[in-house]
Amino acid sequence: MNGEIIAVGTELLLGNIVNTNAQFLSEELSNIGINVYYQTVVGDNKERLEEVIKCALSRADLLILTGGLGPTDDDLTKETVASLLGLDMYLHKESQELIEKYLNKKISQSNLKQAYIPKGAIILKNDNGTAPGIIIENGEKIIVLLPGPPKEMAPMFSQKVKPYLEKKSPYVMRSKILRLFGIGESSIGDKIKDLMQNDNPTVAPYAKDNETILRVTARAASKEEADNLNSKMIKEIDKRLGEFIYSHDDTALNIVCARKLIEKNITIAAAESCTAGLFAATLAETPGISSVLFESVVTYANEAKEKYLGVKHETLEKFGAVSEETAREMADGIRERSKADIGISITGLAGPDGGTEKKPVGLVYIGIATEDGTKTYELKLIGRDRNKIRHAAVMNALSIVYKSLE
Ligand code: ATP
Ligand code: MG
Repeated sequence: MNGEIIAVGTELLLGNIVNTNAQFLSEELSNIGINVYYQTVVGDNKERLEEVIKCALSRADLLILTGGLGPTDDDLTKETVASLLGLDMYLHKESQELIEKYLNKKISQSNLKQAYIPKGAIILKNDNGTAPGIIIENGEKIIVLLPGPPKEMAPMFSQKVKPYLEKKSPYVMRSKILRLFGIGESSIGDKIKDLMQNDNPTVAPYAKDNETILRVTARAASKEEADNLNSKMIKEIDKRLGEFIYSHDDTALNIVCARKLIEKNITIAAAESCTAGLFAATLAETPGISSVLFESVVTYANEAKEKYLGVKHETLEKFGAVSEETAREMADGIRERSKADIGISITGLAGPDGGTEKKPVGLVYIGIATEDGTKTYELKLIGRDRNKIRHAAVMNALSIVYKSLE
């Protein structure tokens, strides 16, 4: 089956909001084996919407439209689809009652519009808003109308449309997401080239914010069979890339790292220069972190590194703030002063100014002090902007901490 996504809304065309619905739906559809060949954005305009729908019907089996199911006059998706397909609309009493219940009042004339349904359509109850979703089966084609707000659209898709589509398919698709750090897409390609040419399961890498994701997708007659195929493939991937894989279930590095610290009850404190607290903030996204994260000291100025961490004045004079020596003393200093099991330090040049030939922008040192001693790492995060450098520095620090826990 191939699908097409049509996002309706003038605000999308004006760039006021980002079309996250299309991204969500594309990802979800590919997970269940439906190819998406086109995404379209069209404004709240009947003629142009008609044109887009006609075109999509000529090339796709499944159309998913989002937006324009609201109560106002510019919401015209349902009306346009119904008139184009020649379907009459009727007042669906149950939807009317549900809307009244949701709004906790008698329905207004404009809201009543939302309870009108094209004849023969499947109605999807909206648990998070007023507009019901709609599935129209028109000959061989399926047309799905979903509300625009993502918090209504996403659960409606996952809970109602996805199971409906899965039933239509003779096989199930199951995906597993592996997340890797410290290896680029091309090196992954070198190591698993043969696996990437496999038909079932498929193995597809893509780069995302300083890390690489591997999606493994199997197609089979049952869930169990598909999971089995995936497991076998993942076993082989683990053999070749295991040292770089930190998650087999799409969990982010900061969360994996925080959970491991909590699980092992290993305490940590950070001394941050160029990341200015980002390491701790990222770690603190995980609930329960307070049991292991003692503190993070932001020591931007040299004086602060001396005052709060005990970095030696001579070290800063001789080697500079961005140096292996300073990173080491920062990590030692924070570990000693906080009494945490792990002291981690980050110092680097985030740029864009201040780089030299010897110390270019993107040069970052990370120090880690544990009971086994202190280690430092030099990173050259060249060719990235300030925020990417800071983010990459944090990712590297998380990875270093995570590896030290294994
Ligand atoms: P409402 O009842 O809120 O009017 P609706 O189904 O008519 O819902 P729209 O009016 O098209 O939907 O959009 C409502 C809001 O939902 C938009 O202002 C926007 O915030 C969000 N939204 C709509 N379409 C998208 C999209 N494609 N991606 C992300 N957000 C969207
Ligand atoms: Mg609307």
